Amino acid sequence: MSVLRTTKLKLSQVSPHINPLWGRSSTPAIFEIAFCATLVILCPAFFLIPWSTVELFDGSIGKMLVGLGDMDGVYSILNSARASLPSVVDSMKVYGIWVVFQATLFIVLPGPIGYGDTTPAGNRLPYKINGLLSWFLTIGVFILGAMFSCWDADIVAKQWTGLMVAASAYGTVLTAVVYVKAHVAPSHPSDRKFSGSLFHDIFAGIELNPRFGDLDLKLFNIGRVGMTSWTIVQVKITTETILKNLSLAASQYRQFGYVCNSMIVVNILQNLYILDFFCQEDWYTRTIDIAHDHFGFYLAWGGAAWIPSIYTLQAQYLAHYPVNLSRITTLTILLLGVFGYWMFRASNVQRNVARRTAGNCVIWGKKPVVLTAHYTTSNGKTHTSLLLCSGFWGIARHFNYMGDLILSFAMCAPCGTRNVLPYAYFVQMTALLIHRSIRDEDRCSKKYGKDWELYKAQVPYALIPGIY
Ligand code: NDP
Repeated sequence: MSVLRTTKLKLSQVSPHINPLWGRSSTPAIFEIAFCATLVILCPAFFLIPWSTVELFDGSIGKMLVGLGDMDGVYSILNSARASLPSVVDSMKVYGIWVVFQATLFIVLPGPIGYGDTTPAGNRLPYKINGLLSWFLTIGVFILGAMFSCWDADIVAKQWTGLMVAASAYGTVLTAVVYVKAHVAPSHPSDRKFSGSLFHDIFAGIELNPRFGDLDLKLFNIGRVGMTSWTIVQVKITTETILKNLSLAASQYRQFGYVCNSMIVVNILQNLYILDFFCQEDWYTRTIDIAHDHFGFYLAWGGAAWIPSIYTLQAQYLAHYPVNLSRITTLTILLLGVFGYWMFRASNVQRNVARRTAGNCVIWGKKPVVLTAHYTTSNGKTHTSLLLCSGFWGIARHFNYMGDLILSFAMCAPCGTRNVLPYAYFVQMTALLIHRSIRDEDRCSKKYGKDWELYKAQVPYALIPGIY
């Protein structure tokens, strides 16, 4: 193991840590398997309950639970679902066209080639970075189509249930396809991970980066189907002021005759986050989603159905129960959100720049403290990675998550304090990122061995200094 700090640390030569199983083999505990099975079965069955709660129970989880306890509540949910059933076939067609359109843009649009991280088997995959172009084109086509009456500008709000059922069906079929593909036609056989459990394999995935030709299923599903549909559901507010007739914000306009400032704040912050995602697509190919997590139900169904249904809950809520914020509250929430965004982006940029320049850069006015960690891939080759130990990354090992959490809270805060349901995004981000930090620690420790221990000695806290 060698330690290279751009401060005056000495190089110490120790034999590199070798663990050919990092990122590839795991034996899940029984409760993990049960958890995976529960999510695979329950998520598609119940993911529209939050929407029903907004529609039928004043957005109150308490009222929804009471409603489910008596038959009237159950009937009203079933009736509401049945009322939208005739549109499901139409919605399936619309959704199918949407997915094919996104796949076509993914494959044909030009873009520079970026490279992901080295995989456990030693592969380094190319990605055509054209997400931003695809995103702008999609929004442009959507607006033009609505202006020229090719489709109803309010199509998402009107066909909401049908489209969400279609998204869930697509995510479920995609999960099955990648599960079978991993066994019969894997893109990179040596980058598969088998857990020995059917449910765990379905949930967490077997292939790391499955592809059909030029179509990288993971980047496509999260980045295009997921993030772009989040936009189409959510971004309407920005076009709302122009067309006054789009999706959720448009529903609010029709119902109340105005769009409340809370809705505008939610849209500004969420669209900032989405736009950032597309501007930084190259960076995204080296994050955990693409570089480390395998492709199963979690990312397939999650990208297709969870993102557009749950990440947009605040807008769904505000479309029914507008909250008018005072100027000072509006400004405070906006500033908090922009601060969270800045922290999120600045910390991720620090890591990117430090790695790209091999530590020859300036972070917070100084040369960064870095540590060179070693790992081996299953083809027997030894590689090095740079671990940044200063800047945001010197405060805690996952401090980049803090900015995201602050921003997530600001995205929910405009919904006020009447109900907790619209805070679902913040709650799920907190759970997701804490769980992710635990998973990542485990993976990095297997990957880097003693080098990771050295890094932990340098940066002792995982998320919040002094606490965790
Ligand atoms: P990171 O971008 O933090 O990536 C973690 C990886 O970075 C580790 O596995 C390791 O990979 C490398 N690494 C760890 N420590 C260091 C260090 N000190 N210096 C350099 N590299 C290091 O995690 P995520 O991919 O989870 O998150 C990226 C961003 O996306 C975050 O800001 C997060 O908040 C956000 N996010 C948002 C989600 C959403 O749904 N809105 C969901 C998930 C994430 P290696 O093997 O290369 O060393």
